[in-house]
Amino acid sequence: MSIQEAQVSRADFDQVMVPNYAPAGFIPVRGAGSRLWDQSGRELIDLSGGIAVNGLGHCHPALIEALTTQAHKLWHVSNVFTNEPALRLARKLTAATFADRVFFSNSGAEANEAALKLARKVASDRFGAEKYEIISTINSFHGRTVFTVNVGGQPKYSEGFGPRPEGITHVPYNDLATMEKAISARTCAVILEPIQGESGVLPAEQAYLEGVRALCDQYDALLIFDEVQSGMGRTGKLFAHEHYGVTPDVLTTAKSLGGGFPISAMLTSNDYAKHLAVGTHGTTFGGNPLACAVGETVLDIINTPAVLDGVLAKGEYLREKLREIGAPYHLFEQVRGKGLLVGAVLSDQYKGQASALMAAAERADLLVLVAGPDVVRFAPSLVIEQADLDEGLARFARAVAEFIQQAQA
Ligand SMILES: *Cc1c(COP(=O)(O)O)cnc(C)c1O
Repeated sequence: MSIQEAQVSRADFDQVMVPNYAPAGFIPVRGAGSRLWDQSGRELIDLSGGIAVNGLGHCHPALIEALTTQAHKLWHVSNVFTNEPALRLARKLTAATFADRVFFSNSGAEANEAALKLARKVASDRFGAEKYEIISTINSFHGRTVFTVNVGGQPKYSEGFGPRPEGITHVPYNDLATMEKAISARTCAVILEPIQGESGVLPAEQAYLEGVRALCDQYDALLIFDEVQSGMGRTGKLFAHEHYGVTPDVLTTAKSLGGGFPISAMLTSNDYAKHLAVGTHGTTFGGNPLACAVGETVLDIINTPAVLDGVLAKGEYLREKLREIGAPYHLFEQVRGKGLLVGAVLSDQYKGQASALMAAAERADLLVLVAGPDVVRFAPSLVIEQADLDEGLARFARAVAEFIQQAQA
């Protein structure tokens, strides 16, 4: 029997995969919209969206069409050439944002790596070698390369990987006074998530983003918004910073951009882009025709009033229903977020048990996420059908009842 024909199971993971993940006990094999099926045929409602990646759900017909049409034309040509899908997607992204220029890569970390390298290069070209400090925030998440994981504000992810890159400072999020003390003429960039995703779905305060913008202007530091998770319609605007009317110098986005096909982008203005001249940066796969053809279709669908308004309305609905489900047990201290990036914060009594609640949801045939130990996170398809959302909520209510029963036992 060939490997292809051999039956594989979850047990194989523990034998052949590097053990850096702890995947669920079942293997999904098929998806459609907001539903997933595992090897045994069990059907699950998906309110996790592949961690905010499947913005149009699973196997959206328009994305299948875009991918397969492009698959019959051209997959890869290298960056020795440009290609039509990349240029079309770049035209649309710049038309839809503050930016004039786009750099494509394959993951959120790579887009942030490009943004941070750009900030260092701009500062070095314009002000000299001493201006290289990067200010980031505690609990932020920016990816897993050595540079981005050290820029990220969760030390547990960056410990044990040798000497840390120099010139990175972490300050508390939503604390303008401390930012003001940390920033100086040596600062080349401040990087922020407009909504901290991984660490608890925590939105920035209006005055904070406005204040940081002013400080960056004062000290000639680039303001980088990491919208890898919050971008591409997730919060009900194409990008979350639009809720605040505060514009960055550099924007990164990834997760939902390809709807499940790997692609990321760094966006900036002409003035800064020119510092990444020929030969200063690059990637083999970034901007390949397949990824960009899918990304273009994702953007066409998401960047419409119907979809974005739908995200806002469904987000309100989801938060309201979660509050109702939690209320009898005083389960949640707060249900927060924007659009369809939602965090249900466990009250003191249940702190630390987000994973246990996620496991209860899975037993009720429902996929949700956590964001740290105290927050259950929801990042469903932006076009989730009302019936699927309601069925998901009904399953979540059952999961909560079981979770409470166990907690009290
Ligand atoms: C997921 C995420 C990243 C990392 O993206 P990868 O594709 O895993 O490299 C970076 N920043 C934020 C805000 C994220 O949510």
